[in-house]
Amino acid sequence: MFKGKLIVFSAPSGAGKTTIVKHLLEQKELNLAFSVSATSRPKRGAEVEGKDYYFLSTEAFKSQIEAEAFLEWEEVYKDNFYGTLNSEVARIWAVGKHVIFDIDVAGGLHIKNKFPDQTLSVFIKPPSIDALKIRLKKRKTESDDKINMRISKASEELSKARLFDCNIENVILENAQREAYQTVLNFIKP
Ligand code: 5GP
Repeated sequence: MFKGKLIVFSAPSGAGKTTIVKHLLEQKELNLAFSVSATSRPKRGAEVEGKDYYFLSTEAFKSQIEAEAFLEWEEVYKDNFYGTLNSEVARIWAVGKHVIFDIDVAGGLHIKNKFPDQTLSVFIKPPSIDALKIRLKKRKTESDDKINMRISKASEELSKARLFDCNIENVILENAQREAYQTVLNFIKP
């Protein structure tokens, strides 16, 4: 079976990693496919089952943990589980593509430690915690409580940035996208 690369993008919530990952997925020559995670959190806005996430009940999520179906999983926020299914990586490799992940810092480091040579781990840095707050408020998808929870986690996550292969600062989106593209291209080159 084709064994592609694992490209992990991690960042505090609101740092812009999802936008950067979407941009990379549009660059066909990179041959990337998005790893759709499983989560026990409720569906948000226009999210689509099987495209943005596999939405599971907490019970179903826990039984997948029991069954050792996950490559990695985390309780990212209290009672909100997120994880990468082994079957997702197998599905993507089966079609001959590299896997790109948009996952939290702990999950990203987990994958890097498990497959050190096959994995490129990239940390997207927000310009500042204040900038994060503004982005999360603008997004209007979470309550103030949830925003505060994400901000307090962000400070902790920022302290782990140095453990990643590469840090990209997202001050000007186009520049961050260009840097991300070049970094991924260099990594997947045979
Ligand atoms: P959101 O609720 O905003 O979609 O995601 C919250 C956080 O969970 C984000 O940092 C996102 O990257 C992370 N996340 C999404 N999927 C996974 C996963 O499969 N594993 C881990 N560890 N984190 C994930």
